[in-house]
Amino acid sequence: MGALVLLVDDSPTIRSQIRLTLEQLPEFERFVEAGDGLQAFKMLADTQPDLVLCDLIMPVFDGLKFLALRATRPDLSHIPVIMLTAEGDSNRKVEVLDRGASDYVTKPFNEKELLARVRVHLRLKLLQDELRQANMRLESLAVTDGLTGLFNRRYFDTLLVSEMQRTLRYKTPMAVILLDVDHFKHVNDTYGHPMGDEVLRNISRIVAAGVRSTDSVARFGGEEIGIVLTQTDLPGAIEVAERLRQQVAAFSHTLGDKTIQKTASFGIASFDGAGTPVSAQQFVQRVDQALYRAKKNGRNQVVTWSPELSPGEVESSLSSG
Ligand code: GH3
Ligand code: MG
Ligand code: MG
Repeated sequence: MGALVLLVDDSPTIRSQIRLTLEQLPEFERFVEAGDGLQAFKMLADTQPDLVLCDLIMPVFDGLKFLALRATRPDLSHIPVIMLTAEGDSNRKVEVLDRGASDYVTKPFNEKELLARVRVHLRLKLLQDELRQANMRLESLAVTDGLTGLFNRRYFDTLLVSEMQRTLRYKTPMAVILLDVDHFKHVNDTYGHPMGDEVLRNISRIVAAGVRSTDSVARFGGEEIGIVLTQTDLPGAIEVAERLRQQVAAFSHTLGDKTIQKTASFGIASFDGAGTPVSAQQFVQRVDQALYRAKKNGRNQVVTWSPELSPGEVESSLSSG
C-alpha cells in the first residue's frame, strides 16, 4: 500500500497542485487534506500519515502552531513534517527546523526539488518504522519464555520487586502463587519430552486464561509457574489457586494417540505492606515453602504460607543483614 500524505494549506488550489506533483511518484497515492493547522493536527492524530506537507503561513492556526500542537504528542513525533515557506526568510526557516520540522521547501516550489525531498523523508520514516518494530519485537522476546509464551523468570523477578514496592507505598495487598506440576518427570520418562512440552503449554494457557489481566504469569522454572496477583488479598488468591487447581486436574493433554491428565500443587503467600518488611527473595521463599508443604501433604492441593513453615526465617534474615 502506498504512503499516506497529509497536505496542509489554506489554498485548495495549492493543495491540488502539490497532490498532482506527488502523484507522479508511484509511492504516493493516498492523500488527506486540511485547510489550517488545527484541522491538520486532528488529522495527524486520527490518520497517522507517513508524511506531512504543511504551509507555514495560514490564517489563525498557522504552521508554527501546528508544530507546537504536534510537540504535545510524542507518539506523533516520528511523522516527518516538511514546511512550505516563503522565499528568502532564512530566520523563519531556522525557526521551523528548531520547532520540529524535518525540512522545508520554499514556495513557489520547484517540482523536482519537492519530489526529491519528500522522497528522502519518506524513506527515512519507513526505515525508522522498521527499526521501531524490530525494537518492540526484541523487547518482547527479552521478557518472554520461548516454550510457553509466558513471561520469563527474569521478568518475574523484576516485576515482583516493583509490585512489592507499590504495596509498601500504597498498602494495596498482593499475593504470589507458585504452581508445580506433580510428577512431571514421569511424563517425560514415559511419554517423551514432546508430551512434557505439550503439558507445559496447556497448563500455561489454563493459568494465563484463568487470572485477571492485571495479574502476571511467568514460567518460574522447569515445570513451575509463578503468578503475581495485584490488588489481591489472601482469600482472593486462595480462590484463584483452587480454581486453577481444579481446571488443571480436569484437563486432558493429548499428543498423537496418547491422552493423559496431570495435577499440580500450589503454594501461596500474600503481602499487605504492614508488619516486618520482607525482601522479594524471602517472599518467594515463603511461597516455595508453602508449595513444598503441598507436595509433602500429598500433592494436588493448595497450601498457604504460615510462619511455622519458615522456622528460622527471622534469624537467617538477621544474620544475612
Ligand atoms: P514433583 O511432583 O515432586 O514436583 O515431581 P516432578 O517429577 O514434577 O519434579 P522434578 O523437579 O523431579 O522434575 C521436574 C522435571 O521437569 C525434570 C525436567 O526434566 C522436567 N523439565 C524441565 N523443563 C522442561 C521442559 O521445558 N520440557 C520438558 N518436557 N520437561 C522439562
Ligand atoms: Mg514437579
Ligand atoms: Mg519443580
